[in-house]
Amino acid sequence: MSLVQLPKAPFACKNLIGGKWTTPVGASVREVLSPHTGEVIGHVPMSAASEVERAVLGAREAAELWRTTPMKERTQRMFRFRELLEKNLDELGHSAAAEAGKMFAEGRAGVLKGIEVVEFALSIQNLDIGGSLEVSRGVFCEYRREGLGIVAGITPFNFPAMVPMWMFPIAVVLGNSFLWKPSEKVPITACRLGELMLEAGFPEGVFSIVHGGKEAVDGILEHRDIRAVAFVGSSPIAKYVYERGTQHQKRVLALGGAKNHLIVVPDADVELTSQGVLDSFIGCAGQRCMAGSVMVAVGNVDHIVKRLVEKTEAVVVGPQMGAIIDRAALGRIAEAIAEAEQGGAKVIVDGRTKRVEGAAYASGNWIGPTILGGVKPGSSASRKEIFGPVLSIVSVPTLADAIALEHQSAYGNACSVFTTSGAVAEYVASRAHAGMIGINVGVPVPREPFSFGGSQESKFGHGDITGHGGIEFWSALKKITRKWQIQSDHNWMS
Ligand code: NAD
Repeated sequence: MSLVQLPKAPFACKNLIGGKWTTPVGASVREVLSPHTGEVIGHVPMSAASEVERAVLGAREAAELWRTTPMKERTQRMFRFRELLEKNLDELGHSAAAEAGKMFAEGRAGVLKGIEVVEFALSIQNLDIGGSLEVSRGVFCEYRREGLGIVAGITPFNFPAMVPMWMFPIAVVLGNSFLWKPSEKVPITACRLGELMLEAGFPEGVFSIVHGGKEAVDGILEHRDIRAVAFVGSSPIAKYVYERGTQHQKRVLALGGAKNHLIVVPDADVELTSQGVLDSFIGCAGQRCMAGSVMVAVGNVDHIVKRLVEKTEAVVVGPQMGAIIDRAALGRIAEAIAEAEQGGAKVIVDGRTKRVEGAAYASGNWIGPTILGGVKPGSSASRKEIFGPVLSIVSVPTLADAIALEHQSAYGNACSVFTTSGAVAEYVASRAHAGMIGINVGVPVPREPFSFGGSQESKFGHGDITGHGGIEFWSALKKITRKWQIQSDHNWMS
């Protein structure tokens, strides 16, 4: 049984600066480990801030030319990039799966969602995003949407292809030059995407990659020539990036962690709900910001929990659920389960006892799906992001109590309701604080052109990251007021 295709030999990641692959001098090198097997699949340089400086210098000339290249011309390269993504879809899917611990289908799905954002970016050329009006006789005001210049994206481990593609296709089509700092845990897919951007014909310097961690991030946040920074990752780092970036006069949008509520009421369809809840909490082994992690059981929903437990117990780890990113995360998940148990929760399904089949995977980071029952509101298991395949069931008597629980959360990414009643669905949709709402959908990711973004500690900054939100974030409105003739009827303006 083969769960994943690993690189044939460890891949040596390099930075992409001024259109050339380079190895930073003196940088420490980190091993990239397969979450499935524990073996070394790559090496990544941990760049210093000086590498960011080099990347900005390498982008400066191209950035000015690119910003003033007509949008239709810029878009042609993105068409070519889309073709290359299609052509290399399976290879990219394997690469994302291999380094992030996903199943192949999940790796591939992430690339497909990235392609959807590319398609939105391709459509910007046909949107009327400017505007002009005669504001006084013979005087015209015009809106012109322009790229910002050099911008940056900092991304997490859990979607090696999708999350970066939430950012750079829209940014680049709008005339920006994009500097990407991928997660040091998943740098291999990043290099492959960099190769495809070069092959698509983007001018050297329009797309750059600097690998590393905090030092490279700080280099980005403090660089005066980087105009905007998008970040996706955990909430403490999102808050740090937002605060430090805005202190340095940057436009910053920083998406953080989550604790998403799945509200289940007695009238919900048993099959649709149990499957929806299962898929939400075990997809990507619970390592996604849209994973449902608290099931709020309103009244008596024992019949639905029973079916959910049956389905959860039947999950085969490996073929049906991927691995955890690293040993440290695996330890944190096991600790969170133990802490909940000590706090009085009942471990209804215990993933700690599940093992993956096959000697090749014995050193991987595996845990099975876990359901905790009787979780107390306010306890750690009901509030903290575990970022693993763990579902906490909190029981409440009424729908109003379910909403009150959702309001207590520090996060605000997603909230779903499972019901056959339109009134119940509307009650939740209009009252929940979360930025993204699901109705009988456990992973309510908005599809393009609808923008992606949560609220509270799931997002620092304004606006959203994809769709029309992306156009707003990666561009500035220039306001032009013009007159060509002397007017006979003067007013304060003309
Ligand atoms: P992380 O915060 O550890 O890392 C994200 C990025 O920040 C990486 O590029 C990393 O190198 C960098 N980084 C790490 N520590 C840093 C520091 N001290 N200073 C500066 N930069 C630092 O997140 P992760 O573990 O890679 O990803 C998982 C987290 O991302 C989860 O909390 C998940 O909910 C969140 N996430 C959120 C969304 C969303 O859309 N809201 C999407 C995906 C993931």
